[in-house]
Amino acid sequence: MRVAVARADDYSREKIMAAVQEVVDVFGGMERFVRSGEKVLVKPNMLEGVAPEKAVTTHPEVVRAVLVLVKEAGGIPVVGDSPGVGSTLKAAEKTGIAAVCREEGVEVLPFTAARDYLFPEGRTIKKFTLARELGEVDKVISVAKMKTHTLMGITGAVKNLFGLNIGPTKAQFHLRMQRQDSFAAMLCDLARLVKPAFSLVDGVVGMEGNGPRNGKPKKAGVILGGDNPFAVDLVMARMMGFEAERLPVNRTAREWGLVPALEEIEVVGDGSGLSFAFEPPRTVESLDGRVPAFLLRLFQNQFTARPVMNERCIACGRCAEHCPPKAISIQERKAVVDYRRCIRCYCCQELCPADAVVLQDGFLLRLLKKAGR
Ligand code: SF4
Ligand code: SF4
Repeated sequence: MRVAVARADDYSREKIMAAVQEVVDVFGGMERFVRSGEKVLVKPNMLEGVAPEKAVTTHPEVVRAVLVLVKEAGGIPVVGDSPGVGSTLKAAEKTGIAAVCREEGVEVLPFTAARDYLFPEGRTIKKFTLARELGEVDKVISVAKMKTHTLMGITGAVKNLFGLNIGPTKAQFHLRMQRQDSFAAMLCDLARLVKPAFSLVDGVVGMEGNGPRNGKPKKAGVILGGDNPFAVDLVMARMMGFEAERLPVNRTAREWGLVPALEEIEVVGDGSGLSFAFEPPRTVESLDGRVPAFLLRLFQNQFTARPVMNERCIACGRCAEHCPPKAISIQERKAVVDYRRCIRCYCCQELCPADAVVLQDGFLLRLLKKAGR
């Protein structure tokens, strides 16, 4: 099992093309993954329509490099995603991805209709309802962003695939999978179903702190990739400076035998020795294994951070609209949370355009942090 890491100091077209090519070449070139005439869904992270400098979305030059390589291999690339907010086409315009697609003669798929995908071998999910277009392509390439994530710790090649869910399905999963480990298990099943042919991560400028939307850009100057999305995420998490195997998706992938231990993964390329100190998100660190499971279940709210809206709230209502259990209301021009209903999914923090949602540690989490656990 190998993961390749190439250096790229900035987003100039030449440097990104060279870095992506270097990563893919480690695995024998794009021809190994894409056959002539195959339709390939290139899936970037397009969480929201914001400028690429915000480091919320995969940079358009990284998307371009993948499109070029797929075309050179004889494939027919298409680009698609379902953003957390707004339409795919609007998000593609604002992120610069639509412009790159136009220049490369590639279609952007709006992901407006879904269909069922049966997955009897799923360990937690036997049926996904995902973008119809997924069933119309031969291959998927995940082109993710190196970011922190308030619920999952990190978002990389695996979490990126969650954007294949459209509309209310995302909120339904948050309602069904309220525990951190069950949500991670769902993501692992999703990646097993989709089986991306190749996974790349744009870590030229990633995001630290309270990602995936309201963190701070952090330069790492790397492009990572490999043919196993779980291995790519494990290596990415370690590069970010986290206890990689403790993070929920990575831990589940290890338990399910989807990826070997970190030390058994060969990391190659001119960026393979790099490591960084990304600021972690201020929320549910992985407490599983540190606190007995029954205590976590009983006192889940006390072991997690709760969302609190501060004075930056502009009462736009986006959080209320997207809150899965409808625990938020707008009162006197401010968003207010009903904590009896809040399931700590952090969608409000993730999607708030004003960065008005701060996370306050629950009582028991504060105690654990004080005790150095
Ligand atoms: S907290 Fe953010 S998303 Fe919610 S209403 Fe206020 S500004 Fe809008
Ligand atoms: S208030 Fe925020 S964290 Fe709580 S359930 Fe709603 S979106 Fe999730």
